[in-house]
Amino acid sequence: MSYQKVKGTQDFYNVEAKKFRYIEKEIRQVIANYGFEEVITPIFENTDVFVRTSGDTSDIVTKEMYTFLDKGDRSLTLRPEGTASIARCFLENKLYATPGIKKYFYFGPMFRYERPQAGRYREFNQFGVEIYGESSPYLDCEVILSAYKVFNNLGIKKIKLKINTIGDFESRKQYAIALQNYFKNHLDELCDDCKNRYTKNPMRILDCKVDSKKEVLVNAPKISDFLTIEAKEYFKNVIDTLKYLNIPYEIDPNLVRGLDYYTDTVFEFIIDDDNEFKGLAICAGGRYADMIKNFGGPDIPGVGYAFGVERVMNIMTSENLFPSLNNDLDVLIISLDDESKIAALKLADELRDEGMYVEMDYKNNSLKPQFKLADRLNPQYIIIIGESERQTNTYTVKDVQNKQEIKIAKEKIINFIKEKK
Ligand code: ATP
Ligand code: MG
Repeated sequence: MSYQKVKGTQDFYNVEAKKFRYIEKEIRQVIANYGFEEVITPIFENTDVFVRTSGDTSDIVTKEMYTFLDKGDRSLTLRPEGTASIARCFLENKLYATPGIKKYFYFGPMFRYERPQAGRYREFNQFGVEIYGESSPYLDCEVILSAYKVFNNLGIKKIKLKINTIGDFESRKQYAIALQNYFKNHLDELCDDCKNRYTKNPMRILDCKVDSKKEVLVNAPKISDFLTIEAKEYFKNVIDTLKYLNIPYEIDPNLVRGLDYYTDTVFEFIIDDDNEFKGLAICAGGRYADMIKNFGGPDIPGVGYAFGVERVMNIMTSENLFPSLNNDLDVLIISLDDESKIAALKLADELRDEGMYVEMDYKNNSLKPQFKLADRLNPQYIIIIGESERQTNTYTVKDVQNKQEIKIAKEKIINFIKEKK
């Protein structure tokens, strides 16, 4: 019997695992200075958590969730996204009870039943942020800026920020009526999903992956013609601030985002490079005025985004943006009899305590295989311990690059190598 990983999942090993952790480390570093606090929530939730927040017309809820009954007949779902879980945690633990705005981030695996292809997996990882407590164009811009800084820090340049507003509740109500009037005469040109969206949530049609390039969508009414004065003013402030911050952007009047909870500002960073990932979103987010309220909580607005970590990894690999991720070997200890092996193990431990990467041979006592090992591992220093070294308490230390060899008293070795490094 041969075992294979589940379709749409990945193993990360060797340098791929290092790339993954490198991205995570860099993200955490940037984000710390913005005051985002980590929230770690369960991988699965009661199914309702996602249905109530993401909306029952979103692609995620209608088609992509890994939902199952547990042995107690509870409907559970592997989390497809982070926002709903963080909102649930925020409410359940009354994190709103203390004063001030709340800035959170999460990092971890998400699960969606999608057709696997380049940059699209069934298990993938998201890094995301959520800020609760304030409705402000400046906060929206700070959120966008933090994502932009993460990209900068990782060296990713070939990306484009697309931004739009989908207005406040009143703007969206008028827009939905206009869209229904418009699509009424074009229903036969839409896919089956969009026919369903037409009645339930016509704005969702604009986010359709099947229909998006069709003329009927390109010519559809634009939200910008239905914005209330407040919504217009809000968006103007966002755009003016982005200009001032020197963040390049492009207004995309058809950008509406796939989840139901968004209001006002929505944005995506998309890959703008001539490769198989071109056009894919690498980070997406927006503001949500009513999500917490609709979820049964107090009237607290939020704003946030989520990054696809694998997509970040894909683009960084194709652009050659990773530094060397090798763990270079500092010291290899060669030992020539069993007693020396014990001494080697002890010395290795002491060197490791000093922050050095140390290996030794656990089996061979002769020189030849151990020098072969040295050729393969390419250490900076080789230490040789044999019977005579033990008796005189002086070990042989070889500087591999300079081809120098000296004998040093055992108790001075650690300091010697530390100073050299
Ligand atoms: P898309 O339009 O590509 O389907 P989405 O709108 O469904 O993306 P979000 O729910 O906003 O995506 O998730 C935020 C980010 O998570 C996306 O911009 C993308 O980078 C990443 N992402 C989403 N789905 C997948 C997936 N199946 N595999 C890998 N990354 C994904
Ligand atoms: Mg999707």
